[in-house]
Amino acid sequence: MSSLFPALTDDPSGRPALRFGERSLTYAQLASAAGAIGARVRGEVRVAVWATPSLETAVAVVGALLAGVAAVPLNPKSGDKELGHILGDSAPAVVLAAPGDELPPALAGLTRIDVDVDADVPGAGAPVAGPVGDEEPALVVYTSGTTGPPKGAVVPRRAIATTLDALADAWQWTGADVLVHGLPLFHVHGLVLGILGPLRRGGSVRHLGRFGTEGVTRELSTGASMLFGVPTMYHRIAEALPGDPALAKALAGARLLVSGSAALPVHDHERIAAATGRRVIERYGMTETLMNTSVRADGEARAGTVGVPLPGVELRLVDEDGSAVGAYDGESVGEIQVRGPNLFTEYLNRPDATAAAFTSDGWFRTGDVAVRDPDGYVRIVGRKATDLIKSGGYKIGAGEIENALLEHPGVREAAVTGEPDADLGERIVAWVVPADPGSPPAEGELADHVARRLAPHKRPRVVRYLDALPRNDMGKIMKRALPS
Ligand code: ATP
Ligand code: MG
Repeated sequence: MSSLFPALTDDPSGRPALRFGERSLTYAQLASAAGAIGARVRGEVRVAVWATPSLETAVAVVGALLAGVAAVPLNPKSGDKELGHILGDSAPAVVLAAPGDELPPALAGLTRIDVDVDADVPGAGAPVAGPVGDEEPALVVYTSGTTGPPKGAVVPRRAIATTLDALADAWQWTGADVLVHGLPLFHVHGLVLGILGPLRRGGSVRHLGRFGTEGVTRELSTGASMLFGVPTMYHRIAEALPGDPALAKALAGARLLVSGSAALPVHDHERIAAATGRRVIERYGMTETLMNTSVRADGEARAGTVGVPLPGVELRLVDEDGSAVGAYDGESVGEIQVRGPNLFTEYLNRPDATAAAFTSDGWFRTGDVAVRDPDGYVRIVGRKATDLIKSGGYKIGAGEIENALLEHPGVREAAVTGEPDADLGERIVAWVVPADPGSPPAEGELADHVARRLAPHKRPRVVRYLDALPRNDMGKIMKRALPS
């Protein structure tokens, strides 16, 4: 197959590839360091990567890809139980880590290889193994565990190449782009889009280590062109903007602000637009499918929508009887099913889960439910399992009510769920983190606020107050962890 990273050569021009804090690598240095790792891991089936936000993680993953070995990125914050689950499932013999990183006992049985980012090897950038087929596994990425224990999605090289090229088309993404990155490197967003994406284009990445609005301001005002973030980051930006004109100016000058991994609240989208004149564009993807839809760089970034299917991706909405939802009326709800070269191969060691995830005619069931605007823009309502509430004969999406609650000045965070109700089938429950814990908005006031903005049948019947919502490392709300 053609190389995943055509720009990865021993080109002596000093073209920058990666920067993490004070440390950086040119393409030639990256080619050399990754080539050295590739030579060490060649012949392995899968290698674990201790995926701290570091140059070493990027070099390790690129090195494994050069050698045709699948990388299994590990979340360094995982507890022993989760690490045990992932290592037992994926069974790597080797772990790649930065020198000096302390590894937990769960990794004691693996051979450790320290990643040397200064390694200097001749012939750098060339594939370390013979040609590697497009269908060979590139990564085994564990899902975020939002709805259950993480599943290992086997992602082939073909899916990475096609998804990144489709995004290049949608975002007019080129080698001239410099990405500001503040995400972890053990999920698709931070690793595939945030590291492999710029490297495939021949552009560069500046990783903030830890996300902060100062870092965003600094990088966007010194030549960076794009920002990838999760909604919690854009929320922090929206909160900071009124008191931070330098941040507003930096964002106004960016070429592209992209959000994904969870729904970007409409309230945050609009506050950012008002303060900067820039609209954040949303894209929608999953570990299993990489990217499915996006607002295009030259399209309209409509708040609350994730745009249109990417080139090569087929998307349909299917109702509970399995028939396609035809109407593009902004009302008819269906499960999103997708087909295309962006899809994973299988869940590792889970043939039953893999089979259950596909329809008989090969569509992947995302488990997400959506409606389509009249022009085809996809509007995600939420997850079929937790976010579609059946109350009083209506099907109500949690996301819409969450967005309405977040527009109330007394609400900082909100999650909506359904609870069994003798009368209604399910009743709408709002979980609210008040802006001022000393004087939370009253239950009746919040219910009226929602009823006025949306419709009377969408009013929460119960409001429960919390200090914080349970979120995972991507900032996703874990509804299954709400107190019962
Ligand atoms: P698990 O499958 O283990 O329960 P997860 O589904 O959160 O966890 P990921 O594969 O990381 O794991 O996340 C994919 C999901 O994230 C999608 O199915 C969708 O629900 C959500 N998502 C991603 N992007 C968006 C977006 N722009 N808007 C709304 N939801 C999104
Ligand atoms: Mg999932």
